[in-house]
Amino acid sequence: QESEKSMIHPVADNTENMNEMKNLRLLARQRYLSHREREKLVVLVKELEYLEQDIDKYGWENLTQGERDDIILKRELVALVEHREGAGVQKFNLQEDYVDDQGKLDVKRKKALLNDRSGYRQHEDEGKRKHMWEEKQLHKAVKKDEDVDEIKLPGADRYEFVFDDNAMVDYEEQKEVLPEKDSEQEIHLLKQLEIEQERITSVQETRKVLPVYGYRKELLEAIKEHQTLIIVGETGSGKTTQLPQYLVEDGYTQGGKFRIAVTQPRRVAATAVAARVADEMDVVLGKEVGYSIRFEDKTMADRTILKYMTDGMLLREFLVDPELQKYSCIMIDEAHERTLATDILLGLLKDILPHRKDLKLLISSATMNATKFSRFFNNCPIFNVPGRRFPVDIHYTVQPEANYLHAVISTVFQIHTKEPVPGDILVFLTGQDEIENIAEKMEMIAGKLGEKAMPLIITPIYANLPQDQQNRIFIPTPPSCRKVVLATNIAETSLTVEGIKYVVDPGYVKENSFVPSTGMTQLLTVPCSRASVDQRAGRAGRVGPGKCYRIFTKWSYYNELELMPRPEIVRTNLSSVVLLLLSLGITNLVNFQLLDKPSVSSLSKSLENLYLLGALNSKGTITKLGRIMCEFPCEPEFAKVLHTAATHEMCHGVLEECIDIVAMLHETKSLFMGSKNQNPGLRIIGQTDSDHMLYWEIYDEWRNSNYSKMWCQDHKLQYKTLCRVRNIRDQLLQCADKLGLAALNESARRELVDKQSGSALTARITKCFISGFPMNIAQLGINSYRTVGKKSTSGLDVYIHPSSVVFQSKRDGKKPCKFVLYQQLMLTSKEFIRDCLPIIKESWLEEMVPQLFRSR
Ligand code: ADP
Ligand code: MG
Repeated sequence: QESEKSMIHPVADNTENMNEMKNLRLLARQRYLSHREREKLVVLVKELEYLEQDIDKYGWENLTQGERDDIILKRELVALVEHREGAGVQKFNLQEDYVDDQGKLDVKRKKALLNDRSGYRQHEDEGKRKHMWEEKQLHKAVKKDEDVDEIKLPGADRYEFVFDDNAMVDYEEQKEVLPEKDSEQEIHLLKQLEIEQERITSVQETRKVLPVYGYRKELLEAIKEHQTLIIVGETGSGKTTQLPQYLVEDGYTQGGKFRIAVTQPRRVAATAVAARVADEMDVVLGKEVGYSIRFEDKTMADRTILKYMTDGMLLREFLVDPELQKYSCIMIDEAHERTLATDILLGLLKDILPHRKDLKLLISSATMNATKFSRFFNNCPIFNVPGRRFPVDIHYTVQPEANYLHAVISTVFQIHTKEPVPGDILVFLTGQDEIENIAEKMEMIAGKLGEKAMPLIITPIYANLPQDQQNRIFIPTPPSCRKVVLATNIAETSLTVEGIKYVVDPGYVKENSFVPSTGMTQLLTVPCSRASVDQRAGRAGRVGPGKCYRIFTKWSYYNELELMPRPEIVRTNLSSVVLLLLSLGITNLVNFQLLDKPSVSSLSKSLENLYLLGALNSKGTITKLGRIMCEFPCEPEFAKVLHTAATHEMCHGVLEECIDIVAMLHETKSLFMGSKNQNPGLRIIGQTDSDHMLYWEIYDEWRNSNYSKMWCQDHKLQYKTLCRVRNIRDQLLQCADKLGLAALNESARRELVDKQSGSALTARITKCFISGFPMNIAQLGINSYRTVGKKSTSGLDVYIHPSSVVFQSKRDGKKPCKFVLYQQLMLTSKEFIRDCLPIIKESWLEEMVPQLFRSR
């Protein structure tokens, strides 16, 4: 695996590797290798094996000089040592013996040669080692004799040497070995230091190439002069990574007294950028530079000066520090994305700026929307960082494509087979499912193409992708290969991948959409705005002229697409932010200043929802329960489930089970390897009729396996996802503990008589979820379910998603439940509900939420 890496991105640590090898070569010429050196060599031999296979794949003539040197050196070294340790007498010249004149390895010849020697080697192995040792000892002994000669005392040989048995000194059987002192090692360390120094210098050089660098001085002056500044610049010009560093360099953190916060709308961006900046500043991620995203805090309270965080996390900081006293600068990055949290942050910041004259506010945005921000902040100045962009040819489809995923795949392979390299492809897709699906198909086609095309490196990027795989998109593409990045709209502005020349854009995005009349949030795939698709196209013109393939028609662009994306605040469920604002003491919501006001109906719907959950009283003021809900790092609905589980007399005592389930529900998207309904491993886990209980059983079994990785593999579950679930669970439990809920639960649990019975447990858990999600309930109709909310509103026909356990039990011929609770409503080809919990007894509804279900 190591070697594959070095082949695919040979530049990464080549120099280091080379130096190490050169050192080894030197040592191997001078003396036999130490154990540690030999271990290194074993790795090298393995690497070489893989490399040789890769040469076959890519062709010797397609390698760069650096790669060739690397390989030649490795071969030489391996041969050298093989020669010394293996054959002893036979002299090998690798280049002549098993490499043809193009430098390509003749595997057959090499095998034959090695076989020749291996008989000798096996036979001689023990003997040889002994021999070596003897030789060494002898060598030493001879040397000693010489030394002794010199210090012979005059007349010494006249005395006979008398040895008394009693005078013998006893030694332990076991001996220790003082390792050889290795001055080469020191040289090696020094060399590594040098290399590292070079790398840092080159990182620093790269920083200077970015467009913002040219404006460093003016920017810092403008920031000094104005409390609020808007910074506009092309994506990739260095706003996110550079500006905060300039602020640090300019002393805004006062040697660690203050912090700088940089918000990002997306988790992936926050973590990736923090890692990059830590690297540029040459510090360990999580110390001076850190990040904070929900359920994951990689900062040190007394050390972190630069904190990248999701906008939602900064919003939460207002709860504990309403004037953000710890911060000297706040940068609201990617403000044009207009997420709900960003909009609320801007409102809150506008509120506190007059009281905190020393606080600097930077708002950075891609080119759209800037004047709107300026107007909002009393016409504050806009600093424009001119960035270079090469022209991008836009290609539209002649007619609408019925299946855009199909069209995406064809387009990518058209580009791949027709266009020259270097030139990587960026494809915009709507989500993980789509990305995985397409990646799989592309792998297959690329496999079939085989030798007929260049290697295609397929790299996905989306929010739930494990960290180590996310970093793959930043690895430079090796020569004669093409990279295709399959991304959600995270790559629209938040992340910049170098080397993109082609963009393929179906023009869709997934959006949350809250329908106040029904109180439901749907996840919809909708067409992007014109501003978005233009932004996407621009990604092709960073390194040189590029091309963008739009999988929609020109007519559609001019006639069907909205001009601007709709800000989240006008289309989402506001419950959690309303609750947050109320708990911050902002009671006059209608007068709270915002860039765009949410509709009155959506505001009143969320107030109504909070009232139903018991977070507000009938006068609209926040209740004690409401404050507790604010404390939990999850949606108020989930917090209500947990509160009920600990305190409600009809179902308390199941807090821990509910925490397990809530934690699992946060991560269900990347839980299974492959699809859930084809997962053979799950059959073993148990027969349950609800997704919630299945999740609980999975987590419980995993816990019983002592969080084993093997167990996950056996059951086709993602180990890393479960580790994240464990982390979320621990945090929720900690929070419940702090709020005293855990103790309440414990005392309730002691009195439970029915705790052993599975159905009683299910009943309790179901009730808890009803209390948290009374609006997410559907009733069985003639051939589908129909959502029920308030009596006055008509419901929506919904279908149980095939991935749900409930769908499977229906298929197995079990009688469906009259009511079912769902966690997610998705609108794709049909209205699907996901993560379903059947409500076995209708009476539970009234029992838990009488206000809503009394007269049913
Ligand atoms: P902006 O915020 O203006 O869009 P950034 O500061 O995000 O620009 O990016 C500046 C440069 O840093 C880009 O050229 C980008 O390729 C590079 N960069 C950012 N993050 C990484 C990373 N994780 N690895 C490698 N390069 C990165
Ligand atoms: Mg940025």
